[in-house]
Amino acid sequence: MVDVLVVTSKETDASEILTVASKVGESVALAYGDECDKIAKYFKKVYKLPSDDVESIFNGIKQLYDSNKPKLVIGVTSKNLKDAFSRLAGIYDMPFSTDVYDVEVTENGVSFKRGFLSGRAIMTEEAGYPSILLLAPRKTQKSEGKENGSIEELSISAPSKMVVKERKEKAKGGVNIESAKLIVSVGRGFKNKDDIKLAFDLADIIGAQIGCSRPIAADLKWLSEDHWVGLSGKKVTPKLYVAVGISGAPQHLAGITDAKIVVAINNDKTAPIFKNADYGVIADLYQFIPIFANKLKEKMKK
Ligand SMILES: Cc1cc2nc3c(=O)[nH]c(=O)nc-3n(C[C@H](O)[C@H](O)[C@H](O)COP(=O)(O)OP(=O)(O)OC[C@H]3O[C@@H](n4cnc5c(N)ncnc54)[C@H](O)[C@@H]3O)c2cc1C
Repeated sequence: MVDVLVVTSKETDASEILTVASKVGESVALAYGDECDKIAKYFKKVYKLPSDDVESIFNGIKQLYDSNKPKLVIGVTSKNLKDAFSRLAGIYDMPFSTDVYDVEVTENGVSFKRGFLSGRAIMTEEAGYPSILLLAPRKTQKSEGKENGSIEELSISAPSKMVVKERKEKAKGGVNIESAKLIVSVGRGFKNKDDIKLAFDLADIIGAQIGCSRPIAADLKWLSEDHWVGLSGKKVTPKLYVAVGISGAPQHLAGITDAKIVVAINNDKTAPIFKNADYGVIADLYQFIPIFANKLKEKMKK
């Protein structure tokens, strides 16, 4: 009987996964290459994957999941495992959580902690069996390896193949916002696409690049996606970040944590951006930007 299906890779610490797996019950592991020999001291049985690409990992997990029906499928958060595990979760409609730690067994499943709002807050969640968990690395105690596990080559009997139906080039606007030293960033405070010219004029004067919040690029499509700053956009590291008409949602702030000086221009004095700005201007951007731009121009002439 297998309670836990563990997937490890050379980037992950199998001893941390064992700590969680042994709380739930008997486990088998799936790995690739030399990693199998390394982890045989942690697991009684190790299945060796023919390759470590996402497709093989997914096929290996699915095959072992189908034949063992474990309570838990577990690994450490990584791009490949997120891809492979999410496919398994999709097929079997299973709960799937990433970056979890402090995993405990409950009456009906497991409870665990995970960060949200870009790591600014922590929540405790519960999931019933079967579930899929990806641990946050280095947040779980290590276990000692006492096994002398056997290693078996896993031959995938009915591999599923992902079919790429179409490839589309991402629209690019030719900016490299990630390396920009000065950024003027626009948000929903701008009422029309044409009004963004105000921000471009300001950016021209100080030699800045143009950034934006998600709605401007993703929803309104006023600017291309390479201007998009934030959690799901680009993380920027400028000396100066001028946020114009941006409210300061946590997902936007996640992209500017390494900006040296943040200036916020917003007509709502309660906008969260002000709590995260070094300088705040409470003003209507339509009145303030032209005056500010003119003043700057005059200063530059001197
Ligand atoms: C999973 C997920 C990922 C996300 N990733 C990102 C991300 O990477 N980047 C991102 O930006 N967002 C992201 N978001 C969206 C985010 O939650 C916010 O919805 C978004 O950042 C809001 O954009 P905004 O500040 O431009 O608009 P709003 O929140 O609508 O704010 C507009 C601001 O403009 C001000 N304003 C209005 N008129 C004027 C005026 N005349 N003069 C001056 N100020 C004015 C208002 O007071 C307001 O504060 C994500 C959301 C989710 C759920």
